[in-house]
Amino acid sequence: SKVLLEVKNLKKYFPIKAGLLNRTVGHVKAVDDISITINAGETFGLVGESGSGKSTVGKTILRLHDKTEGEVKFKGIDLYGVNKEELRSLRPKMQLIFQDPYSSLNPRVRIGDAIGEVMLDHGLATKENVRDHVLEVMELCGLSAYQIDRFPHEFSGGQRQRIGIARALALNPDLIIADEPVSALDVSIQAQIINLFQQLQKKRGLAYLFISHDLSVVEHLCTRVGVMYLGSMMETAPRDELFSNPLHPYTKALMSAIPVPVPKLKRERIVLKGDIPSPANPPAGCKFHTRCPFAVDICKSQKPEFRHVGNDHYVACHIV
Ligand code: SF4
Ligand code: MG
Repeated sequence: SKVLLEVKNLKKYFPIKAGLLNRTVGHVKAVDDISITINAGETFGLVGESGSGKSTVGKTILRLHDKTEGEVKFKGIDLYGVNKEELRSLRPKMQLIFQDPYSSLNPRVRIGDAIGEVMLDHGLATKENVRDHVLEVMELCGLSAYQIDRFPHEFSGGQRQRIGIARALALNPDLIIADEPVSALDVSIQAQIINLFQQLQKKRGLAYLFISHDLSVVEHLCTRVGVMYLGSMMETAPRDELFSNPLHPYTKALMSAIPVPVPKLKRERIVLKGDIPSPANPPAGCKFHTRCPFAVDICKSQKPEFRHVGNDHYVACHIV
């Protein structure tokens, strides 16, 4: 299959400023050496607790933040090598969907206009045919024609997410980065929106980078999964491989917290102690060692290598 997105050794450090002269006194290593490959039409799930840097990965890929180091290639094009104009012409092909679409919708703009305006902006529709295009994309997202002239506040949370998806889809993207797109919704509505993501993928050949703290959502939707902790990738594997054979203690801990038992999996119950440490001052060695029930001496001083263990399965742990 064709590689769509290639992220290599991506780092995003935010400076910590302090004092009268606003000196840089340190860095928050929000993204600390992350590599991800996404093929056309595939769904890569990026999982981790809040504060693990997942959202920053998404934003840095899209150049909504500048990277600190590393490489991002989209369809073979170095996204950090292009100028503003070239980036603008690539933007429609890579869309971001947020947890709360309401925050990006102008409350005074009718939703048909909100969807249509991005099409007109990017020359994907004309004044004459924009209404038809808007109706088409609304229908694709499960919205009804009679809703075209309504305002955002007239919609429920699930419908607003459909509007957010419709607006992204209006630009005919190849990649959608979806950042916790169902986390704010009721469970029954979550399932509907996840089904919508799946239908759209089939119809449009979309690829997703699906960011979530919820492993059960990711298991349902994704073809490959990466598990992040404190800005680093701890484990990546094809979905079935990861869920039947989780190797990293952190992944095992996340899985043992899924309320519905995962079939075929003999699960040890691993309860994590404490909170995720500050990314401004991450633990030395393995970043997970302060919470890992299996930590040995070497974990405190030596960073485990992220290495291939077969079946397209990668893991960073000294004891695996
Ligand atoms: Fe735990 Fe050590 Fe493995 Fe880190 S390297 S996950 S601390 S066993
Ligand atoms: Mg986030």
